This record gives sequence, structure tokens and C-alpha cells, in this order.
Amino acid sequence: MKTIVIANWKMNPATFREARKLFEATKKIADSAKSIAIVVAPPALYMRELRGAYMGARISFAAQNACFELGGAHTGGVSLAQIKDARVQYVLVGHAERRAAGETNEDTGKKVAAALAAGLVPIFCVGETKRSGSGEHFLFVKDQLRAGFASVPPAKASRVIVAYEPVWAIGSDAAMSPRDMHEMAIFIRKTVVEVCGESGHKVQILYGGAADETNAADMLRDGDVRGLLVGRASQDAGRFAALIRALGDA
Ligand code: PEP
Repeated sequence: MKTIVIANWKMNPATFREARKLFEATKKIADSAKSIAIVVAPPALYMRELRGAYMGARISFAAQNACFELGGAHTGGVSLAQIKDARVQYVLVGHAERRAAGETNEDTGKKVAAALAAGLVPIFCVGETKRSGSGEHFLFVKDQLRAGFASVPPAKASRVIVAYEPVWAIGSDAAMSPRDMHEMAIFIRKTVVEVCGESGHKVQILYGGAADETNAADMLRDGDVRGLLVGRASQDAGRFAALIRALGDA
């Protein structure tokens, strides 16, 4: 299985012209990194056109969010069917910034199940807002995982990608240590197996939170993760190239 790196552009850049420029640079980076699967998550407004114009096979696309309803009166929403129709394969579910805007654990469970039913791959984001000496963050993540996988048929559990992103590391100066990530990865796998059975062992786990060229390789080597979810460092072509270079033949 290839290492996967997701470029989360969030609500950037401000113009489609800049988005096209960033995508052109990302294409070159992807062409030079054949052992890494790169997934670009652009703003919804840019996604369809970028995807439609892309003839290569080195980059896949992800929507940053989706509604779980099939259609109807959901002003501002983007449906899973619309994402599929744009030939996009992945969808982020439960990103910390969506949760901060009101998305609940229950919502994420509906979205993960609906994404699988629609034939999309959910990238299910979990992570505690703070850490405590008594280990409450494990319970927090456990609740998120239980809710997210609650309606996932056991046979499909291994299709879900779990992106562990401690909220305190997102947008911060420092990533979590690979050793702590390793501990959390074991915990995540154990919890998914409890909910979904043995197929949970096959769930692919990613790390996100201040990932960049200084910490990416260590995280992949020692963190027990198969890839990274990258925010800021993916929105600058120079930084993204440096990160991918740092991964070498990961
Ligand atoms: C993110 O957007 O999920 C993220 C991890 O952001 P950053 O890499 O900027 O911390």
C-alpha cells in the first residue's frame, strides 16, 4: 500500500487562477514522487473544474466536506452524489474545523456510512482538543471512533481511512511526537476492531497537525501511520515539494 499524503487547501487560495497555479505545481510534485499517493482537497467551488481538466492518474481528489442527505432543502450544502458526479473519490468527514462549526459525532457517523454507500472513500478525522495526564483524550477519541464507525458494515470498515489530528497541533508550530502517535495508532486500531471486528486491523491511519518537511519522515518511520493530512504546508508549492522530498521513497 502506498503512503498517502492529503493536501487540504481549506478555504484557500482566494482566486481560481491561483488555485490552478498551485495545482500545476502540485502535479509536478506528484510526477516526481511515484511511490506516494497524493490527494488534493481543494475548496468545493474549484474542485469540479480542477478535476475535470486533470487527465493524469497521479493525483486523486477529495471533497473537504459533504452533506449526508441525498438532496433537497440544504442551502449551501454539497451532496455525496454531486461529489461522485465530479469524479472525486474521497471525502473528508469530521475535520476539526467542521466539528468546531457544529458537526456532531452523530453527524460524522451518518456521513461515513453515506460516503461508503455512495462508493466514496471517507477520510474520517478524529482528535482530542487537549491532552490530560489521566488519559481522557483516549476516551474522547474512542467516542469519536465509535460514533463514526457505528453504521459501517464490518466488511467495509477497511475502506475507511482514519486521520488522527490532535486539534492542539492543527495550525500550531509543532507536530505531535511520533512516539505518542504510535501509541494512539495502536489505540485507534484496537477501538475500530472492537466496533467492526477483525477487518478493523486493516484500517489505514494518517497523522495530521503541523506536518511539514522537518517532521514528516520521522512520523512515517516511527508513528505507525501510513500517511499524512497536511494543511498549511500543502498550500505553498515550495513547502509541499520539500515535504514530499523529505519522504523520499516512503
Ligand atoms: C489540517 O488542515 O488538517 C491540518 C493538519 O492543518 P496544518 O497542517 O496546517 O496544521
